[in-house]
Amino acid sequence: LWEVATDDDFGDVVAAGTGPAPLDRAHAVRIDAGGLEPSTWYSYRFRIGEWTSPVGRTRTAPPGDADEPVDFGFASCQSFQSGWYNAWRDVAESDLDLVVFLGDYIYENASQPVDPAEGVVRPLGADNDEPECTTLEDYRRRYAIYRGDENLRAAHAAAPWLVVWDDHEVDNNYADLSSEKDGVSAEEFTARRAAAYRAWWESMPVRVPPPEGPDLEIDRTVDWGSVASFFLIDTRQFRADQACGDATFDLSPACDEVKGADRQFLGAAQEARLIEGLTGSAAAWNVIGNQTVMSPLVVGDAILNYDQWDGYPEARRRLLSAIDEAGLTNTVVITGDIHVAGVGEVQLGDGDGARTVATELVGTSISSDAPIPEDLSSLVTELLPWIQYFDARRGWTRCRVDSGEWTAEFRVVDDNLAEGQPVSTDATFTIRPDSPGAVPA
Ligand code: FE
Ligand code: CA
Repeated sequence: LWEVATDDDFGDVVAAGTGPAPLDRAHAVRIDAGGLEPSTWYSYRFRIGEWTSPVGRTRTAPPGDADEPVDFGFASCQSFQSGWYNAWRDVAESDLDLVVFLGDYIYENASQPVDPAEGVVRPLGADNDEPECTTLEDYRRRYAIYRGDENLRAAHAAAPWLVVWDDHEVDNNYADLSSEKDGVSAEEFTARRAAAYRAWWESMPVRVPPPEGPDLEIDRTVDWGSVASFFLIDTRQFRADQACGDATFDLSPACDEVKGADRQFLGAAQEARLIEGLTGSAAAWNVIGNQTVMSPLVVGDAILNYDQWDGYPEARRRLLSAIDEAGLTNTVVITGDIHVAGVGEVQLGDGDGARTVATELVGTSISSDAPIPEDLSSLVTELLPWIQYFDARRGWTRCRVDSGEWTAEFRVVDDNLAEGQPVSTDATFTIRPDSPGAVPA
């Protein structure tokens, strides 16, 4: 039995019903509760036999023409063993309208020995002997382990979520039907991707139909009244394999392969849907819920990470050109994946001809390790003038958005290898919808 009410005591139940929790969905209950009012907060719970679940809170979006602000958080990358969920506790206590999760909800890796000195803070599974996920059972168990964390559950229970995946919901840096590892057959990886997508769909609060084998389209648009349209994209399922051997932090010039015009990042169909949606949008803000970094992370002709948009420059140019030609100045790209926080100006063209067409806010990881030491942060903003902010600590990003201004607060945890740590604001930036690029508040 599921119930939706306007109060926490369930005195005013406005929608209720029964739903199956079958074994072949890992006992997940999926409800699309209709008949709710727009722009309204609700409480919900589940009951079976003598058991009643904790109460969750959620809300509906404003109607299409409503100029109502949205106070949302975005986050990504919550490696269970790599740190505590201090950031989720802060999210849960922040009175948000919405949480946007940009991928790496689980990590597929096998259990590692617990050793805080090595950055491994807690066991994964009761006996800490989980294998690398490859089967449906493995992936289902992994979601269950992650959901065992009370701070993560509190964040889910505090507000509605919009969720997309990145690579670790399946396999590190996979591309379409290519595994990270060489020598894995397409047949083997197809079965693995089908299992991973199935478990994701069972476990996530997403209103998309179930996967068909290894295929599941998750790109979609969610409108928040007239203030924001959220364009949620998938940069894994349809991309070309990473170019130039997928080297990272390689300072030699990029190979020619990377420049190929036919190298898809979104896939042709998704790219067309995104461009059509963006150019047809009348929202005050167009928000792209993205995975990998769109701002260039390059040194001269060297590309530091071929897994990002830098590794698919023609696909990026097509998207930015479409935004530019439509005269849109209100695009904000929110990004995860890289485990550091940042602010960037996303530019079309290069050198003296470069102009900013979108703003990028990169949120750091909830708990996954930073790729570079914290004390290198200032070097990044010195070397890359289009990057205005960079911080390598754990945390999440809070955005208060109305039709005239966007305020982004970077929330950080100083020591995420310890439990119960405080979370504070490191930096605040504002953006205006008529002028891409963020400025310090
Ligand atoms: Fe990650
Ligand atoms: Ca990732």
